[in-house]
Amino acid sequence: MIETGEFDFENRIVAPQIIKEDDSETDYSLRPKTLSEYIGQDKVKENMSIYIEAAKKRGEPLDHVLLYGPPGLGKTTLSAIIAHEMGVNIRVTSGPAIEKPGDLAALLTNLQQGDVLFIDEIHRLSRAIEEVLYPALEDFAIDIIIGKGPAARSIRIDLPKFTLIGATTRSGQLSAPLRDRFGVIQRLELYSAEDLAEIISRSAVILGVAIDPEGAYELASRSRGTPRIANRFLKRVRDYADVMGDGRITKDIAKIALDRMEVDPLGLDSLDKRMLTMIIKGYNGGPVGLDTLASAIGEEAVTLEDVCEPFLMQLGFLARTPRGRCATELAYRHLGIPRTESDGQQTLL
Ligand code: ADP
Repeated sequence: MIETGEFDFENRIVAPQIIKEDDSETDYSLRPKTLSEYIGQDKVKENMSIYIEAAKKRGEPLDHVLLYGPPGLGKTTLSAIIAHEMGVNIRVTSGPAIEKPGDLAALLTNLQQGDVLFIDEIHRLSRAIEEVLYPALEDFAIDIIIGKGPAARSIRIDLPKFTLIGATTRSGQLSAPLRDRFGVIQRLELYSAEDLAEIISRSAVILGVAIDPEGAYELASRSRGTPRIANRFLKRVRDYADVMGDGRITKDIAKIALDRMEVDPLGLDSLDKRMLTMIIKGYNGGPVGLDTLASAIGEEAVTLEDVCEPFLMQLGFLARTPRGRCATELAYRHLGIPRTESDGQQTLL
């Protein structure tokens, strides 16, 4: 029998979303403030620095920017950096927080020339709000209806020229008309272990934690390509170093601490393993549809799709086929499960 049941997602140490233990003050101090402090994502940085420079030369606001990629990769951080480099203010909000067209109108009319409006989870804006946003993005104006019934009339309010930066984990869920209104679309990739080790070393200096380069690399290689997880490991493992050693994070301490937190050497935790094990043992290696899989392990399909899949696919452990998800040969080997005759041919990938 494969174990199922509720997973304590809120406290999952490898969750790429913000969880309870990420306190916002430390998080703020760890955020890079300039493009040169922003580690990795070289292609995105190169492109953005050209667009920023060009906009500044022309004395115009930056074109609207869409940033997409899995959670915890630095979309919010990059947006604040873009505003900083442009020398303008940033207003931060999120798709679900804008409930009524009036909420958006209030935000937009309070902006100043050149300001950045950052909307996180922009794919969650309602259609009615999107309708208000279109003329704002294109003509820098909004139409407001005043009065009710036959006496109602629409007036147009001009807005200052601003830059919208939208962030989303799912660019596919963005409506085509909204997507088309972004002049710049950039995808953030999962980070290499080398980049994450550099992020960890930088954060260690800010937090005053002593860490060996090998210790930083050990944490980095288990961080699932995600800076938010890397910083969280650093803070957690510091406690182990204080208790078990002299406060310095060595490779051995990093290993022991992460093993105890049930994060394996590649960064897989019990949820990833349950997902792969279910595909292998419950469905002969796949293919199995996402919803079927999610209900079989008692987890939300979006969690598997947003959180487990990008990482498992990057490792080459999971393949998405038109007929469903398949575990690959590498996944069998990592979990130490021998393949049987009846296991799907797709798993030979
Ligand atoms: P997202 O908005 O994509 O969910 P955030 O911008 O909130 O991600 O980043 C999560 C954390 O990771 C931040 O606290 C920040 O300190 C760190 N971080 C993200 N990207 C980088 C980077 N390129 N260099 C250094 N730290 C980073």
